Amino acid sequence: MKPMDLRRHNEIIAFKAENDSVTAFHAYNLEVAEISPESFAQMTPIEITNGVIPDVKLPVNPVETEAFDALNEWNTEVNLKAKSGKIDFGIRAITINVNQICNLKCLYCAAGGDGTYGQPANKISIEKTLPQLKFFLERLQPGQKFKITFIGGEPLLHPEAVHAIYSYMMEQTSIRKLTPAMSIVTNGTLLTGKTLEIVRSMKIDLIVSIDGPKEINDIVRPTKNNTSSTDLTLLGLKNLADDRGEVLSIGLSAVCSEQNPDMISTYHFFQTLKPDWMEFNFGYTEKSLALQKNYIEQMNQIAATTWALGGEKELRKIKQFDTNFRILDQQLRLENHCGAGKSYLMVDAKNKLYTCPWVVGDKDEVVGENEQLDHAKLANYSKSLIELNNCQTCWARHLCGGGCMFIHKAHTGDKHKKDILFCERTRSLLLTSLLYYKLSRTAV
Ligand code: SF4
Ligand code: SF4
Repeated sequence: MKPMDLRRHNEIIAFKAENDSVTAFHAYNLEVAEISPESFAQMTPIEITNGVIPDVKLPVNPVETEAFDALNEWNTEVNLKAKSGKIDFGIRAITINVNQICNLKCLYCAAGGDGTYGQPANKISIEKTLPQLKFFLERLQPGQKFKITFIGGEPLLHPEAVHAIYSYMMEQTSIRKLTPAMSIVTNGTLLTGKTLEIVRSMKIDLIVSIDGPKEINDIVRPTKNNTSSTDLTLLGLKNLADDRGEVLSIGLSAVCSEQNPDMISTYHFFQTLKPDWMEFNFGYTEKSLALQKNYIEQMNQIAATTWALGGEKELRKIKQFDTNFRILDQQLRLENHCGAGKSYLMVDAKNKLYTCPWVVGDKDEVVGENEQLDHAKLANYSKSLIELNNCQTCWARHLCGGGCMFIHKAHTGDKHKKDILFCERTRSLLLTSLLYYKLSRTAV
């Protein structure tokens, strides 16, 4: 279903779906509801590309006044259940570059084109990484969660390093009564033999990057020798399907790009592999409006297909929709798209610290090393991203949190200057989420 005819009245936006029912969203209270056609008629049409609050036109007759008053009443209501998601400084999640080398050479690789970030590094030093991890863990209170995401290059080129950090994390979080969460982002080509056994032995979430069936994936994600990576990834996924051991979840992650525009085929291909969840990301640096339009339409089709297949449960296997449902359920107003520099840091393979995985190698972006943090630099990240990125009037701000600084910078040259393509994409997927959220929460 495609949301159409988008309107706004201060904090409330609403749109008509194909069946003419009106879905409305209160941007501050994070409430989703159906409103009357009369109230909808009192709202001002807006464009998906526009986050500005439109002027209010006053009603001219009693029927309109009643509908307008109902709208105003909801607009000014404060729902105390909706809470601020403000992030105070305190590192609760890190990403670790286990290495900065890769066995593939993906066309869109944001890590310098070959997994090296322009600075190849064979393997992270465990001797430096464990004390660095301890430094972060000892600053947490019992009961808090700490998350590690292992990336590379290709992290499973060094499974023993991943396992050593995993074991230390499990031990230390147990002693300190913290909740551990760990995931590995991998191309899935090395899931055989000893590496497979190591992966199976860990309570981790596995995110496998694959861009659809062989005829596409081999072009977009070739090996360094230009041989097929798909056969290797499919073998790895089969090995895990046979026995995943302790692995908590397996997700498949695809990137929509000029070379891989067909997300519908990718979705159907993913379905045959029976993952726990899947995601379809729009290429970070893609600039084509036509490609994005096609992507949004396909995401709407995927939403409709999953909804028809199994309602909320099936729809929420698509990560983007699951994330939006979770925020709406929690009614926790996002103030930041990510925790960069507040609750989150990136550790490169030389133990330097950054605020984002994609700025590794940029010496101006270094915010610390080993157990030293550059608090003066980190102070630049202390304000909310909604504030830093001037998103205060956007109706999507508390579901989006000001957007991704890396994408903004890749498109506008400034991490705090918004990329309009990102905004349109984000708002479009949010409207789809709101539509199904209303359907799922009002279903009898
Ligand atoms: S980045 Fe997100 S919050 Fe900011 S204007 Fe764009 S959609 Fe809205
Ligand atoms: S700025 Fe973007 S890419 Fe970087 S950590 Fe935040 S969400 Fe991720």
